Amino acid sequence: MRLTHILSLFLLFAIPSVASANGKKISKIVLDAGHGGRDIGARGQYSTEASLTLAVSLRLGKMINDSMKGVQVLYTRTTDVYPTLPERHEIANRANADLFVSVHVNATAGTTTRVQTGTRTVKKGKKKVKQPVYRTIHNRQTQTNGTETYVLGLHRNSQKEDAIGEYGDNLAEEPGLLNPNDPQTAIIVAQYSQAFLSRSVTLASKVQEQFSNQGRKDHGVKQKGLEVLAGSAMPGVLIEIGFINNPTEEAYLNSEQGQFEVAQAIFRGIKAYKAEVER
Ligand SMILES: [Zn+2]
Repeated sequence: MRLTHILSLFLLFAIPSVASANGKKISKIVLDAGHGGRDIGARGQYSTEASLTLAVSLRLGKMINDSMKGVQVLYTRTTDVYPTLPERHEIANRANADLFVSVHVNATAGTTTRVQTGTRTVKKGKKKVKQPVYRTIHNRQTQTNGTETYVLGLHRNSQKEDAIGEYGDNLAEEPGLLNPNDPQTAIIVAQYSQAFLSRSVTLASKVQEQFSNQGRKDHGVKQKGLEVLAGSAMPGVLIEIGFINNPTEEAYLNSEQGQFEVAQAIFRGIKAYKAEVER
């Protein structure tokens, strides 16, 4: 049985037939630190995505516990282990949580350039001719910076996005992309969209707004067919908190101040979302 099929079964049972209206209390929030254990995610010069997602998720959970009364935090992991996607969803679905917040770190695919390093002389018949000598340089570093937040969706024009970021580079089986041509996938996404998409977009926008207030570059709210979001029967977002292969951002994400600010932006986004849906 393919994963998408299992997920669709999940949702057939889990999704309420009518999307609930405003006035719903947010009382359980699942924090999902992306990757972990054998899956390190994207790599920087000295740190891994898996360690940064965990550090930020734990800080965020503490902020919620300390200052959102009546809200319970559930983690998909609190140590350097690797829960599978179905295991992560099960934690959320079994708890009947109200929000699923997955934290990830971005990376660009890097560039390959060919530079001339000199010339060499070769014989062509009786003549000697000079030929350029090239060297190929792989550069994993990027100047790209900032944050973006994903909600579940499918659009056919996703190939370009898929080619960049962690998904195109050094990954690993997850977070997987759903196949838009699979009819089962279409069902999952249609059901999810009907029940949870608009709320997910609301949360995603509020989180991005907070990052923007902090002066981070805002890459906006995007849709992607991500299994990591499809399996949870609740509004959910996947937040890319910065680019690990940008040396400046890697330093920021590893710093006390950076981790605090990132957790705070997500916390404030959740708080604004909560105020809106509970109104
Ligand atoms: Zn990731």
